[in-house]
Amino acid sequence: MIHIAVDVGGTRMRAASYQSSSLKPIKLSRINTKQPESTPLERMLELITTVWPEGESIAGLGVAVPGPLDPFEGKIIDAPNIPNWENLPLRQILEDRFKVPVVLGNDANSAALGECKFGAGMGHHHLIYLTVSTGIGSGVIIDDKLLLGASGFASELGHVTVLRDGPLCPCGQLGHLEAVASGTAIARWVEGELDQDAPSTLLPGKRLTAIEISAAAQNGDPLAKAAIVRAGEFIGQAIADFLHVFNPSIVIIGGGVSQSGRLLLEPVKSSMQKHVMNSHFLDNLLLTTASLGDEAGLMGALVLAREMHTKES
Ligand SMILES: [Zn+2]
Repeated sequence: MIHIAVDVGGTRMRAASYQSSSLKPIKLSRINTKQPESTPLERMLELITTVWPEGESIAGLGVAVPGPLDPFEGKIIDAPNIPNWENLPLRQILEDRFKVPVVLGNDANSAALGECKFGAGMGHHHLIYLTVSTGIGSGVIIDDKLLLGASGFASELGHVTVLRDGPLCPCGQLGHLEAVASGTAIARWVEGELDQDAPSTLLPGKRLTAIEISAAAQNGDPLAKAAIVRAGEFIGQAIADFLHVFNPSIVIIGGGVSQSGRLLLEPVKSSMQKHVMNSHFLDNLLLTTASLGDEAGLMGALVLAREMHTKES
């Protein structure tokens, strides 16, 4: 039985076809999401065709897409950075075109599934996945099932308030975890400190990226290190709350900022210990970084295709 997985990002999209129980793609293809000569949807349809094994029938198609979507209706609500992907009935479009069952998943939810089934979370049944990059995305798996909620919007763990009246979050609220601990938030905080003449090898007066700050931190820059530690403390504070709600056996941190490794994980851990209601929540809890990197979304889309979660519910 062959399945096709598609991972759509604001910059690139990838698709691959797989035989049952294999993770080695039969065909794999990647293209830019945006090109002047065609729309992202046209490009996606073409991409799927290129990985379709010749003469074979496909059992299902799983698609990971950024931004909020309705996984039950298979409809994209608003995919950030992809023009005109608003209220787009993508599942219907794909099913009409390819005549196979299709399931859509939010990209962070899909990455959580990928890490759970094939990555750092293998063997775990209760898992929290956070991806800390430009923003903070997340997915929660309980009893081997992705938590979707009544409308499919569940587990937006980046949008919990950790700092009352804190900085403005891209969602419009103040003091959310994403607004104080994402890669973007780390960079803005360092820029603010540099404006106040904080000692650092980083130069004031220009836009910084989390990658530059992470590199400076690895080289021992005190301000860059303080920024990663600060973000880690907020993440740990939030995770303590998530432990109380979900009681997972593993918490996986992915995304670009997680490449800071121990520098990020140590403050996450100590903050988590400080804020947890009792130490039993930490018994047998594994805190680790993601292992699939960029592959997590595609692997999650494959899990979606193979398991067809929304069809079961
Ligand atoms: Zn928010």
